[in-house]
Amino acid sequence: MRLSRYFLPVLKENPSEAQIVSHRYMLRAGMIKQSAAGIYSWLPLGFKVLKKIETIVHEEQMRAGHIPMLMPTLQSADLWKESGRYDDYGQEMLRISDRHGRDMLYGPTNEELITDIFRSHVGSYKDLPLTLYHIQWKFRDEIRPRFGVMRGREFYMKDGYNFDLTKEDALHAYNRHLVSYLRSYERMGLQAIPMRADGGPIGGDYTHEFLVLADTGESEVFYDSAVTDLTFGDRAIDYDSVEQCQGVLEEFTSKYARTDETHDEALFNEVPEERRRVARGIEVGQIFYFGTKYSEALGANVQGPDGKQSPVHMGSHGIGVSRLLGAIIEASHDEKGIIWPEGVTPFHCGIVNLKQGDAEADAACESLYEALTAAGLEPLYDDRKERAGGKFATMDLIGLPWRITVGPRGLKNGVVELTCRRSGESEELSPEAAVQKIVEIYANHQTGRGF
Ligand code: ATP
Ligand code: MG
Repeated sequence: MRLSRYFLPVLKENPSEAQIVSHRYMLRAGMIKQSAAGIYSWLPLGFKVLKKIETIVHEEQMRAGHIPMLMPTLQSADLWKESGRYDDYGQEMLRISDRHGRDMLYGPTNEELITDIFRSHVGSYKDLPLTLYHIQWKFRDEIRPRFGVMRGREFYMKDGYNFDLTKEDALHAYNRHLVSYLRSYERMGLQAIPMRADGGPIGGDYTHEFLVLADTGESEVFYDSAVTDLTFGDRAIDYDSVEQCQGVLEEFTSKYARTDETHDEALFNEVPEERRRVARGIEVGQIFYFGTKYSEALGANVQGPDGKQSPVHMGSHGIGVSRLLGAIIEASHDEKGIIWPEGVTPFHCGIVNLKQGDAEADAACESLYEALTAAGLEPLYDDRKERAGGKFATMDLIGLPWRITVGPRGLKNGVVELTCRRSGESEELSPEAAVQKIVEIYANHQTGRGF
């Protein structure tokens, strides 16, 4: 992309309504624009990152054997009346009536709809296990939408639902989700710690929230610092293996890590004092096994091998796709702007032309642009007739992890400058070597092409 032809409405001033850094930088970098409280337009740069995050979530869900589909945002209230949640959900649910006076709602979640699909089409254990998911806009009329996309009213969420014959099978699905979530967050450059969460009215131990540590997080968390040493990495995993998935769950959840809802002071005090941490975190996902709550309410039964009918065991599993943009920025920025992890960066590399209009500099930039594009990467070429300082400030603000700077002086010596956004370190090398290096860096990140 050539910046002169892109739409990147950066703001020079700090918007006064933004209280936290991610919100401030998303507005300043021209990623989002508020349309109403807690509702945003996703401008091209924000949309690009949103799609990259969404792609990672899709790839990791499909890798785990979960099947993508799409349910609508608007739902009929009937199913919710059947499950009993129409009244329970309260004011967070946006209720609408259509021209015929029928009760509708903008879905805050999809347990009812998916259970209805299941009961219409599946009746036998032979069709199980089954996990269906979608990534769709949700609406929750939050009392206090704030912090930009972190707590919106309209937000983008991946929600998946597993259907299994037995509790045992459903717990395997739960573990599979835990593993796939660990992989997803790591690909986004994030550490998200699974923490024992509150089962709410449903009760039980089978729910974990994934939290990214950040001072601006809304949840108070208590953990053994040893959990922060755990990484999933690129180890191979067989998602069908009950032992392997259970092993990962045990590895990642046996150290103390809880939100304030489930915090147990006595247990926490068993952690060696020097490893006890109290901090704040951003919830970026939650997994849940809830048994037969919805299948009983909605009559979703399956026939077992013995011919008997029983309600199907279910769980639901969510990732806050749009909230993740905020969480990533909270975890990765400096005073100049965002620092995107390679896995989600909107463009792989910036090209800054120090002297636009200089024949040699222009030609060198064009050939870098072509070489990077031919290698399957997306550069953002700042080809505007701007001062160098302004160009650098924009690149730093929008946070591309790598930048190639091209100027007549360097070109005389056959070099360009390659700068790492995170470390700030630069090196001079030939244009070919710079391209080579960027290609090698991204060979380790499956980022895919953006929109
Ligand atoms: P919270 O406690 O933050 O209100 P929740 O527990 O009600 O969230 P879930 O139903 O678990 O949310 O939804 C799954 C994920 O969707 C959450 O982990 C979070 O990342 C994201 N999410 C929930 N509410 C919002 C919101 N208002 N804006 C943006 N993302 C949200
Ligand atoms: Mg939650």
